[in-house]
Amino acid sequence: MQSLILLGLKQLATIASGLGKKKKLFILIFHRVLDEPDFMRPGEVDKKIFTWQMQLLAKYFNVLPLADALDKLDQDQLPSRAVCITFDDGYADNYLNALAILKQHNLTATFFIATGYLNGGIMWNDKVIEAVRNMQQIELDLTAIELGKLSIASEHQKYQVAQQIIQKIKHLQPKQRSQYAEGIAQQSQGLPNDLMMTDNQLKSLHQSGMEIGGHTVTHPILATLNAQEVEQEIVDNKAELERLLETRIDFFAYPNGRPEQDYLKEHISIVKNAGYKAAVSTPWGVLTKQTDRYQLPRFTPWDKQEVKFMLRMILTYMGR
Ligand SMILES: [Zn+2]
Repeated sequence: MQSLILLGLKQLATIASGLGKKKKLFILIFHRVLDEPDFMRPGEVDKKIFTWQMQLLAKYFNVLPLADALDKLDQDQLPSRAVCITFDDGYADNYLNALAILKQHNLTATFFIATGYLNGGIMWNDKVIEAVRNMQQIELDLTAIELGKLSIASEHQKYQVAQQIIQKIKHLQPKQRSQYAEGIAQQSQGLPNDLMMTDNQLKSLHQSGMEIGGHTVTHPILATLNAQEVEQEIVDNKAELERLLETRIDFFAYPNGRPEQDYLKEHISIVKNAGYKAAVSTPWGVLTKQTDRYQLPRFTPWDKQEVKFMLRMILTYMGR
């Protein structure tokens, strides 16, 4: 089995090296690098998976900081198989787990930070996940949000119920959404206060050579806000990061990142006017010189097996 996987990888590496002529850039999205697999977050990678993913990227691709990659794309100097690594939100494990693995492989990533949650904050979706995880009761009454009474006796049920709640309240007005999440949290045995980075962790991450970008203050779905609120979220977040890190912040990531659903056309000019050089979204895609700099597509490398991970990278490069 092991040798089959190795053979597969070797063949894929040969195919990957044949992608040389394509001057394309590929931006990966990560959120967390967990200590170990977590039943409440099956979509997130852990240290072990992230380590081999970075090994493969370092060996078979050319990983560049986002700023360099975009400059090189402009000047037609992009190396073959160019990849950027990005992280959204500002989780503490980015500093505690991802940083050492990135440094070990000499890789630079860009971290998009929602400043409102630094120093002990928790985003509404994490509040739901962590609250349901810590519940002692075997049933949760969700009739208030039309989900009825649901069993949370097993780990799998807890995972499913948390996801159902998140899907149900995701697109509500931010205020109403926080209220629901808070209501769920109050039925639980407490929440972690160290999920997101502290100011000092963020400063260390930046001082270690990592790139930092903006991701709004409170991570709202921008499409649910009025123009003034959107501007405030974007401008205040940028100012706070620039004050904290004493540097210019050039890149922005739209929360959730789906055009016309999570952010609207008019928000792009707000991002430009705030002084950002480029912005990333979340639709799948590979960048070329023609790609809109304020709506750069990205891709979540969710494959937990090496061969699948490589294959998907290659297929995406080939323009599938
Ligand atoms: Zn985000």
